Amino acid sequence: MFMPEWIIVTGGVLSGLGKGLTSASIAKLLQSRGYKITPIKCDGYLNVDPGTMNPIEHGEVFVQKDGGEVDMDFGHYERFLGIDTKFKWNLTSGKVFKEVIEKERKGDFLGETVQMIPHVTDEVKRRFEEIAKEENSDIVIVEIGGTVGDMENQLFLEATRQLKNEENTVHIHLTLVPYLETVGEQKTKPTQHSVSKLRELGLKPDIIIGRSDEKLESSPKEKISLFCDVKKENVISNPNIDNIYRLPLILAEEGADKQVLKELGYHNGERDMDEWEKLVENMENPDKSVKIGICGKYTDMDDSYVSIEEALKHAGAHLRTDVEPEVVCSQKIEEEGVSSLEKYDGVIIPGGFGSRGVEGKINASKYCRENDIPLLGICFGMQMMVIEYARNVCGLKNANSQEIDEKAENILIKELPEQKEIEKKGGTMRLGHYTAEIEKGSEVFEAYGREKVGERHRHRYEVNPEYHDILEKNGLTISGSSKNGLLAEFVELKDHTFYIGTQSHPEFTSRFETPNPLYKNFLEASKE
Ligand code: GLN
Repeated sequence: MFMPEWIIVTGGVLSGLGKGLTSASIAKLLQSRGYKITPIKCDGYLNVDPGTMNPIEHGEVFVQKDGGEVDMDFGHYERFLGIDTKFKWNLTSGKVFKEVIEKERKGDFLGETVQMIPHVTDEVKRRFEEIAKEENSDIVIVEIGGTVGDMENQLFLEATRQLKNEENTVHIHLTLVPYLETVGEQKTKPTQHSVSKLRELGLKPDIIIGRSDEKLESSPKEKISLFCDVKKENVISNPNIDNIYRLPLILAEEGADKQVLKELGYHNGERDMDEWEKLVENMENPDKSVKIGICGKYTDMDDSYVSIEEALKHAGAHLRTDVEPEVVCSQKIEEEGVSSLEKYDGVIIPGGFGSRGVEGKINASKYCRENDIPLLGICFGMQMMVIEYARNVCGLKNANSQEIDEKAENILIKELPEQKEIEKKGGTMRLGHYTAEIEKGSEVFEAYGREKVGERHRHRYEVNPEYHDILEKNGLTISGSSKNGLLAEFVELKDHTFYIGTQSHPEFTSRFETPNPLYKNFLEASKE
């Protein structure tokens, strides 16, 4: 009979301790021992997906291959594990409640009082089991978002409490162990409180991972073991680090994966992190440093461009190059000119929505084009490159995007009728994986080394096909198109160090062990 094992990860004391990264790191270690791991993330909020949430509040929206829009943690899982996650693997309270209410309306529970326990918790467990079965997983790692004690995640905690009685599970609790300067000690009380909060809910962790500034000392480890009732070797230290890709190696040193397997009753599989370790060493001993400017508008929030920054780091690890990405405010460029771009070796114009800072992005494109600075335009960024080219090279007056100015004389970027059809069906964007046909001999072909390239998308507008000819006649190559030739997927300039725009988001397919080829070539060009 098919029987997966379960790892439950909860967080205590504070949010933002890096539960996603810790879970992804443990998953990586287990994967390196030959286990098939499937990550599930449970989020308490009522949104069905986070696609409509403000990136300033929530960080970047991560787009999955199947078009799911999920939170950043899925990005960590993909980058660490090198797998394509699925929308289904993200449970939100909104998704679960919606399903239960729909079932109730259909009469599935006729005669019953529909309740949180067992109907809603059963729905959570049903989804867990379904995913495990579909994926044929050896181990499923269920990360519960938020912090123990939040009202929002009670539902998921209760479901995992029940799961513990039914299946082989190991429960990892991640907490904060602060250092109190006045007494010169790492304090364990917050951890003890957080564990007693778990106990109220009928949960008892098997492994406690303590986040701290410095490595956990022996005495706080002993205290945690004693007061929280876990074995001493199951108290794992997770100190601050500069390089997130080192975390699996640190957790391995602490024996995290070994203890997880012990608790699950598994004893086989050699850990193999050699390649990973080599890349980490590369990253930490670079032979050159490169400055990249990301010309965007979400400058207040560190996590808005996380996939782009990570994709650059992956490329850097493989090229032994240190990358210093910085977000440059496009509105500032609009108001004060392009001088703030002068210090960068390469520029990325990222995805975006709406008109704020648009002219700054267009000016940045012009600056890079005219000065032979490597430029990578992502989605909205490519649209801005095309507008700039239309205005300044093709002489198309007042060229613009329909999104910015519907009445512009030349609508270079337009919502196509096909997209409007999708809108009628409830979706509003072209989402997820689409394949482009690449022109042989182009720079994009050179980067990917193949004629068919699949990347992920998240957009409504396209380069207006009525202008493809004019653009090409004036020297802008459309080097990748959709199968029917209607949609421009990649554009490039021949006599330029690196000037490539893509309607897709190649950063979403970049992994630590296999960087995205376009980012890699972009970094290589910037390095030179
Ligand atoms: N706003 C643009 C569109 O919808 C670009 C979106 C993006 O950059 N992801 O087409």
